[in-house]
Amino acid sequence: AKNQGKNSYQMYQPEMESKNILRFSLESALRRALENNELLLHYQPQVDLISNQTTGFEALVRWNNAELGLISPTDFIPIAEEIGLIIPIGEFVLYTACLQAQQWRERHAVDINISVNLSGRQLIQANIVERILAIVESTGLPFNLLTIELTESILMDHSKETLDKLEKLSQSGFTISIDDFGTGYSSMSYLKRYPIDTLKIDRSFVSGLPEDANDVAITQAIIALAKNLDMKLVAEGVETEEQLEFLRVHKCDTAQGYLHSRPVVAEQAEQFILNKNDR
Ligand code: C2E
Ligand code: CA
Ligand code: CA
Ligand code: CA
Repeated sequence: AKNQGKNSYQMYQPEMESKNILRFSLESALRRALENNELLLHYQPQVDLISNQTTGFEALVRWNNAELGLISPTDFIPIAEEIGLIIPIGEFVLYTACLQAQQWRERHAVDINISVNLSGRQLIQANIVERILAIVESTGLPFNLLTIELTESILMDHSKETLDKLEKLSQSGFTISIDDFGTGYSSMSYLKRYPIDTLKIDRSFVSGLPEDANDVAITQAIIALAKNLDMKLVAEGVETEEQLEFLRVHKCDTAQGYLHSRPVVAEQAEQFILNKNDR
């Protein structure tokens, strides 16, 4: 084609087009991902800071597509949320993770906690509580071994429906955890409104420990807040011994991060359970 000069339309058009094409092929491939068995879970150990043992895992979804390669959840979860696919994907994740934890329980006679991320789009479904109960029950996993991770933004609607759902989930025995705590919203009033058991200190605060004075102050404040509200603490993104030591000294309960392990396939995750039994 001829060069038609440099008006702005010509300038951004090619980029727009390739973005749209990428988005479209992602979307149509994602619609087939579940039935084609392209989704799988990785498990990242959560380590108790006193006993130094793995007490549970966070289940993190992975998408392996033959043509597109390995796609990060940060790229495909937002799309899945937009087009509604997060509902079947979320149910697949919940079922697979709980079944895995139950199999580990039976195989190794040890209770392993499993954490699953629940998106806002899932929680606003009218029958979400019934769906979760039915799915977890079908795996045989005791309800007290499932932790449901929610981000702060989900709790900002302050609706009666959200409150009712979380109370029912909490009364059923599930643990409710706030993911990426401190990054979402400035208001903390939701902390007293909802039945919250655990705060996950966001990686952005952990990463600056122990040198960065701001990260130290924020982390200490979050720990104090959780203690006063009788909540448990998980620190995410723990990458160094220094961070681990800071968190231990300041009485954080649990650490999760590359220092102990990246998220790994089930067979590898199982090794952490075997090590636990050895001690
Ligand atoms: P998240 O829930 O905050 O999960 C933690 C993320 O931090 C994971 O990224 C994990 O691999 C990464 N991470 C853990 N330890 C470290 C560390 O020491 N250093 C660094 N740099 N990163 C660490 P991942 O697996 O790519 O997941 C990204 C996000 O995608 C998750 O963030 C979560 O918001 C979302 N996601 C993943 N799986 C699911 C799912 O099944 N359902 C939903 N709704 N969202 C999911
Ligand atoms: Ca999470
Ligand atoms: Ca997180
Ligand atoms: Ca985070």
